[in-house]
Amino acid sequence: MKHTDRQPPQVACPTCGKKIPWSPGNPWRPFCSERCRLIDLGEWLGEGMRIPGDPAPGEEGETNGDS
Ligand SMILES: [Zn+2]
Repeated sequence: MKHTDRQPPQVACPTCGKKIPWSPGNPWRPFCSERCRLIDLGEWLGEGMRIPGDPAPGEEGETNGDS
């Protein structure tokens, strides 16, 4: 089996899925860019700020005439 060690291994950016070379020159790895890194950070920040458990609508005036 031939192994090409000329190119760095490729990883998929967690944010956009773009394949990027895992090179020491990329400060944003495993992301493809600073933008994707910030997006990912914002996503989990947004998750934490989101209120879990919205009041479920449609509980009042329930018609259950079928038995
Ligand atoms: Zn990306």
